[in-house]
Amino acid sequence: MPGLEDLYREIILDHYKNPRNRGSLEPPAVRSEGHNPLCGDEIEVFLTVDNGVISDIKIGGQGCSISQSSASMMSAAVKGKPVAEARALIHRFKHMMSIDEDGEPDTSAPLGDLEALQGVVKFPVRIKCAVLSWNTLAEGLDIAAE
Ligand code: ZN
Repeated sequence: MPGLEDLYREIILDHYKNPRNRGSLEPPAVRSEGHNPLCGDEIEVFLTVDNGVISDIKIGGQGCSISQSSASMMSAAVKGKPVAEARALIHRFKHMMSIDEDGEPDTSAPLGDLEALQGVVKFPVRIKCAVLSWNTLAEGLDIAAE
């Protein structure tokens, strides 16, 4: 029986090789970008928010497999979701990555494939890679709320 780590590696590789929601959106879609200079990762997040729901999201940028697969999983997890749910997921993901934020996360937010990234916690230098797209999403949501 294949171990959980093998399964997780497969999920990460699949998202890296076949990134979901890759591309860009024209204005008035919101655009935010994030950089992780430690690793050279770049992430662009394009968002359309309609009536409090993320109706469309596209991801651009380049970088290591962790940063790009995390961005792909993030886009799949929040597309079509209410902004409040996406924010809860950001909180929960960062909590999983051992990044302390105020309060306990809402554990009802389903992590699904995202749990595959949990192993990254063992490699502190890679945590920034995994969290980059989530911070960039949070920034985009802030811009969309203005
Ligand atoms: Zn990286």
